[in-house]
Amino acid sequence: MVNLQLVTAPQERLMQLCPIGFIRTPYKEKFAIPRQPGLVAEARGEIHFQSPFDDINCFRGIENYSHLWLLFHFHQTQDRGWSPLVRPPRLGGNAKMGVFATRSTHRPNGIGMSVVKLQGLESREGKPVLIVSGMDLLDGTPLWDIKPYIPYADALPDATGGMAQDKPALMAVEFSQQASEQMAHLHKAHLHNLIAAVLAQDPRPAYKKQQNAEETYGMRLEDINVRWTVADNRALVMEITLA
Ligand code: SAH
Repeated sequence: MVNLQLVTAPQERLMQLCPIGFIRTPYKEKFAIPRQPGLVAEARGEIHFQSPFDDINCFRGIENYSHLWLLFHFHQTQDRGWSPLVRPPRLGGNAKMGVFATRSTHRPNGIGMSVVKLQGLESREGKPVLIVSGMDLLDGTPLWDIKPYIPYADALPDATGGMAQDKPALMAVEFSQQASEQMAHLHKAHLHNLIAAVLAQDPRPAYKKQQNAEETYGMRLEDINVRWTVADNRALVMEITLA
């Protein structure tokens, strides 16, 4: 465990930021959220805005873009501070890298950035709601800003990606008969693909992957609890219950 330290910025350099809104996502706890955007396309979310950013004029033209950049606050881990060195899960949790050489959540100012797919802009009681998918954000995450994704400038196919050059390998996922029945009984069959895509990312912490012992894990997704085991590089969903 790296020692994290709380750093206070000199008063005269402090800036104030105000969230423009908050995102609602299926991810109700940090565990099992995909580690980058775009890995679980099945996850859909909604962005709700607060005054004065809930003016529909702020969104004119946004539907011409297929993807958006979300700049957000890692609000749930912010009070743990940051450290110059972090242990990226990609490297098995052992090797240390500089905080600015990683996408760690523990960083100065706690700013996150994710490209998400724009599914649509709705007006609800006169207020704008953006529907997005593929995000890696916790439910309730505050957003600092939104910008359109510009392919010619933002997509760089020749770029080198350090330790994260390729997408992580996917794990096979199966549902036990009990889990399938519970899902049908609870009218949650529509969550099948989301659960499968999240588990295919193998959310286990690096040290558990190394131990490779058969163990049961749990996550909360939408309003259900999912329990699964991992054995022989394969996830088996055991139980689906209401949260
Ligand atoms: N695209 C991101 C990747 C960050 S790591 C970026 O570079 O900014 C992604 C992880 O952030 C997720 O797996 C989840 O565990 C964590 N996370 C998502 N929302 C969070 C929040 N509001 N507070 C703290 N951690 C969060």
